[in-house]
This record gives sequence, C-alpha cells and structure tokens, in this order.
Amino acid sequence: MKKIAILGSTGSIGTQTLEVARNNGDLEITALAAGSNIKKLEEQIREFHPGIAAVWSEEKAEELRTAVRDLDVRIVSGMEGLIEVCTEPAAEIVVTAIVGMIGIVPTIAAMKAGKDIALANKETLVTAGHIIIPLAEEAGVKILPVDSEHSAIFQCLNGESRGQLKKILLTASGGPFRGKKREELTHIQVEDALKHPNWAMGRKITIDSSTLVNKGLEMMEARWLFGVEPKDIQIVVQPKSIIHSMVEFVDGAVIAQLGTPDMKLPIQYALYYPERRYLPGERLDFETLTQITFEKPDMETFTGLKLAFDAAAAGGSMPTVYNAANEKAVALFLDRKIPYLQIPEIIGRSMEEHKVIPDPTVNEILETEQAVYEFIESRW
Ligand code: NDP
Repeated sequence: MKKIAILGSTGSIGTQTLEVARNNGDLEITALAAGSNIKKLEEQIREFHPGIAAVWSEEKAEELRTAVRDLDVRIVSGMEGLIEVCTEPAAEIVVTAIVGMIGIVPTIAAMKAGKDIALANKETLVTAGHIIIPLAEEAGVKILPVDSEHSAIFQCLNGESRGQLKKILLTASGGPFRGKKREELTHIQVEDALKHPNWAMGRKITIDSSTLVNKGLEMMEARWLFGVEPKDIQIVVQPKSIIHSMVEFVDGAVIAQLGTPDMKLPIQYALYYPERRYLPGERLDFETLTQITFEKPDMETFTGLKLAFDAAAAGGSMPTVYNAANEKAVALFLDRKIPYLQIPEIIGRSMEEHKVIPDPTVNEILETEQAVYEFIESRW
C-alpha cells in the first residue's frame, strides 16, 4: 500500500485526493491537515484512520481532540503541526493541497524528510522555486505536478529529452469574463467571478482564474518545474479546457494531452506515477466534439497576466510580491471591500513599491510577503 499525507485535505484538491484513494482502495492515508473545517476533517479521520491530523488553531484542535477521543489519532496544531504532518515517518508522498504561501515551509520540511511531493500548492514554486527545485535534487525526491496543465506538460514530456523541448504551450480557458473589455468588468460581483465555465475549484483559485492571475502563477510554476524561460512559455486560450496543455519540440512536433476537465486524473497520475490506473468518469467523444478553438489572451483587459510576465522577468523576490499582493487583494475582494478591477491594480502598485531581493531566502520571502500585506493594509 502506498502511504500518503495530505495538507489541505478538506479543500477541493484534498477531497478529490481522498476520492481517488477511496476509488482505488490501495492508498493508505497516514496524515491529514486542514485549516478550520473540523467537521469535515473529523469525517475524514473516521473514514481513513490517519495516525495524525493537524488543524491551524489550537482552539479548534482542542475541539477536534474531544470529538475524536474514541479514535487512535494524535491532533496537532499551528505551523509545527503542519510540519509534523508532512514529516511523520510513514508517508512516502505528501500532497500539498493547502492554499497560499503558507505551504512553503511544510513543503520544504517534507522534502528534507525524503518525501515525494504531489504539488498542487503552486504558490510554493512561484515564490520559492529557486530553493525548491535544487532541494528536490539534493534530497533525491520527486516533484509530481497536480495542476492539470502541469500534469499535461509532464505527460507530454514522458520519455522525451528535455533538451529538445522548444516551448511550452500553456492552455487557458479564459475564465468567465473571456471576450469582455475593461469597462464591462467594473461592476463584477463576487458571485459572478466565482462562476468558472469548466472547473469546480476552491474560491481563491476560481477568482484567480477569472482575472487570469492563475495563468500567470501557472506560467511561473511551469518555468521552475520544467526548467524553461518565461519567454518560452506561450499562453493559448482554449475555452473548453479540452486540451490541458501542449509542448513543442525543436523539430516542430507539438504534443498535447487532452481529456474531460476532471482534477482526479492529474491527482491520480501524480500518486501512481508512472503507472496509469482506470479512472471512472466521462470520456472525450470525438463524434460529438466538432471543434477546438484557440485565441490569444487579452493582456490589456486582463493586466494581471501581463504583470506575471513582468514579475517573472524581474525575478528574485518580485514573484513573491505578485503572489502575496494577489492573495491579499483577492481576500479583500471576497470580503467585498474592494471592486474587482482593483485586484490587478493592487498587484501592480505593490510591485512598483518593491525593491527586488535577488535569490531570496525563505525568511526573506516570508518577510517580503509580510511587507506586501502591510503596504496593502495601510492603503486599502
Ligand atoms: P481550497 O480553498 O478548496 O482548499 C484549501 C485547503 O487548505 C483546505 O483544506 C483548507 O482547510 C486548507 N487550509 C487553508 N489554510 C490552512 C492553514 N492555515 N492550515 C492548514 N490548512 C489550511 O483550495 P483548492 O483545493 O482549490 O486549492 C489548493 C491549492 O491547489 C492551491 O494552491 C491552488 O492554487 C491549487 N490548485 C487547485 C486546483 C483546483 O482544481 N482546485 C487546480 C490546480 C491547483 P479548511 O477547509 O479547513 O479551511
């Protein structure tokens, strides 16, 4: 039985990971961690019997301890708890399905403890890719992408020589506001932005998909995962999310991975790599699928995507600023404290304010995050 630990087990990726475990029956769940949803975490503990589980606040941890006192499970809390979940000896793979930069420290701890990483938490690579990628090599652990686009690229590169890769064609659905111009986005409400045309995901990433910031984060995630320069990553809008991404080789050959939009496929592929398993669900039907269309992304309307290329070009701590400013701005938008178009505006203003630190350490990354939060809190 393969043994796995899940950070962020109560979220969209976390619950789908557990669904994959339930369907296959040969994955043992050794540890779970969540933020505050202790009701769902309790259900998961009762079904999957991990030896350890973490919640963020000690108060919630105490409540959970009482709720599961009939079971043999240790409940821990805070950052130390997340690190314990990531490093407990049994697990071979840690699924990082937590949202935000809080994933950096536990991911590094897991790698140092020799765990392979099934990486959904893109914020870790965006902000600390220059630390994570060399560390994977040093620790002899694999980073297996869970993001559907990166899993697609990973699948397309199977058996190929990385040196012959010419460029990555990162596909994007374009989100719910594809085709709209800036003036039409002025009055977008939280409910409008939470409606993704193809994928059901957590709230933060759904907003990021609507602003195309998610594609910007994915571009930076891809540059680290596949060792390419941002200029060699082309964003291709493919509204139905049938092509999950493509790669072009030096001889002009383009290889794509296609499928119905179902996150369980990349999750399962990461957990069993290099083996493929049966996955129940809809299949592509090429008799009814009449066309696949492509467009260029509109970076004048969706300036968040353009800012991602600027942040990647500046390098060092700038991607952290991009990511932290976005996390804060999205939280403010979800709390209805700022209008929709202020999300990219806040990212841009935070980037202008920042003096780049080349090759930042983990502490410098976390300090930069804090400084960005303080800058935003003092102005909005
Ligand atoms: P969700 O918001 O659905 O879930 C986030 C998870 O993180 C929840 O389990 C939440 O717990 C947990 N969490 C939040 N804060 C803490 C904390 N302080 N301590 C411990 N756990 C915490 O997010 P998604 O599943 O959508 O996304 C997770 C990651 O995967 C993100 O980085 C996202 O970009 C990436 N991703 C997601 C995709 C998707 O389809 N959803 C696709 C590709 C990548 P609780 O519920 O208890 O608060």
